[in-house]
Amino acid sequence: MNQQVAMEAPRSIRLNPSDNVAIVVNSGGLPAGTQMGDITLIDHVPQAHKVTLADIPEGGAITRYGEVIGYAIKALPRGSWVNELLLELPTPPELASLPLATKVPADLPALEGYTFEGYRNADGTVGTRNVLGISTSVHCVAGVVDHAVRIIKERLLPKYPNVDDVVGLNHLYGCGVAINAPEAVVPIRTLQNLARNPNFGGEILVVGLGCEKLRPETLMPELPSDLAMRNVLSLQDEGFTGFQAMIDGILAMAEERLEQLNRRTRETVPASELVVGLQCGGSDAFSGVTANPALGYAADLIVRAGGTVMFSEVTEVRDAVHLLTPRCADEETGRAMLREMKWYDDYLAQGRTDRSANPSPGNKKGGLSNIVEKALGSIAKSGSSKISQVLAPGERVTKKGLIFAATPASDFVCGTQQLASGMTLQVFTTGRGTPYGLAAAPVIKVATRTDLAKRWHDLMDFDAGPVATGEATIEEVGQQLFELILDVASGRKKPWSDVWGIHNALAVFNPAPVT
Ligand code: CA
Repeated sequence: MNQQVAMEAPRSIRLNPSDNVAIVVNSGGLPAGTQMGDITLIDHVPQAHKVTLADIPEGGAITRYGEVIGYAIKALPRGSWVNELLLELPTPPELASLPLATKVPADLPALEGYTFEGYRNADGTVGTRNVLGISTSVHCVAGVVDHAVRIIKERLLPKYPNVDDVVGLNHLYGCGVAINAPEAVVPIRTLQNLARNPNFGGEILVVGLGCEKLRPETLMPELPSDLAMRNVLSLQDEGFTGFQAMIDGILAMAEERLEQLNRRTRETVPASELVVGLQCGGSDAFSGVTANPALGYAADLIVRAGGTVMFSEVTEVRDAVHLLTPRCADEETGRAMLREMKWYDDYLAQGRTDRSANPSPGNKKGGLSNIVEKALGSIAKSGSSKISQVLAPGERVTKKGLIFAATPASDFVCGTQQLASGMTLQVFTTGRGTPYGLAAAPVIKVATRTDLAKRWHDLMDFDAGPVATGEATIEEVGQQLFELILDVASGRKKPWSDVWGIHNALAVFNPAPVT
């Protein structure tokens, strides 16, 4: 192994001419003494980790992406390994002084002729899947819903070949919570909009208990409560004698909706109907070099095709927000961006924590020293378009183009919140690897490195690694990813998480007290 490493030519990537560090590309890293151009490595530098390209004095700025990612806590001569213990975290951008809408990117040329096969809905949205989503108003019913879903899949689904799946939208909210607390608006709005995700075709069915704080009919605020109640089944209803009767009741209501959903068929729609969510998880230092920039290029293509792309994860954009507020379409959108950052700063402060709680140990092992470096790599996903809308957690998207949908960075919470915002397909970049998947929408997982794509050949859907080795450009890889998005949206290709049926639980963001 070591011999093989030694035989490979040393490769490193410097992203910006002003950077005084580069990251090592070679699998297995590079040993001390390696001659990398005119630099002799002083330390062993692991793969994806940073090496200094110049002598950096104690307190000197360490620059990557052309931005300061930290200050050296001791002198770092040229050729040193820069691990996370050697950087002091810079202060985050001061929100009050950020420029708003000062560098709004001009629209890129429109992209015509791209389509996918989607499911049109009565409300004008388009789904990528045809799924019966069974909403729930409280976690008490989760076991019953899971049981019913198993039986529906076994007995009913085969009769409705146009329906892809049945999903119980179980969550931990609904009771034992401060339902009138100001922040309760977040989980309630999330559950309301989750039921309306375009992949569920507008066929809402809610299973409730009967005594919960979150009344089931509130999940359908657009309907008068008597009409909404027709879509609700409460387990405590006196008409039910025993568990079996409840299951029969759910099956009967499910069958009505399956009949409706079965009338849906895929039709050719323009790529402008895409609503793609982006996120990352288990990131490494390649995330911001390969997968995220390629995804950013694909995001630009979707925007150019008239579609919608949302990026999220507040704690992972916070330290790069000074690069985002100038890109907001107007000052109002810029102020909405600041409002979401401020809200999260306060939320973290209330829990007596701060942004240094991110990155994770795995991120650090993958070469990401701190949240600043992670954020600079993370926002590469957003491409180069203007930001046309900023959504608070769980709000539904109402504009096309590039959207910032504020969510926590936690993979499951971000996924759930994006589903509520109307995302119908997610692209997930990862450097360390994760088997993450969602039942309600397909997830394309993009590996930042070829090593990972090969090792997890039946979990990773796309390899962005060729960007690091110079075998392909960001534009080429981004174009391939865009085409894969259209294939998956059309049902022509199944991501691995759907092949295996491995899906994470929904995790509704609840910043309000649990009682
Ligand atoms: Ca994440």
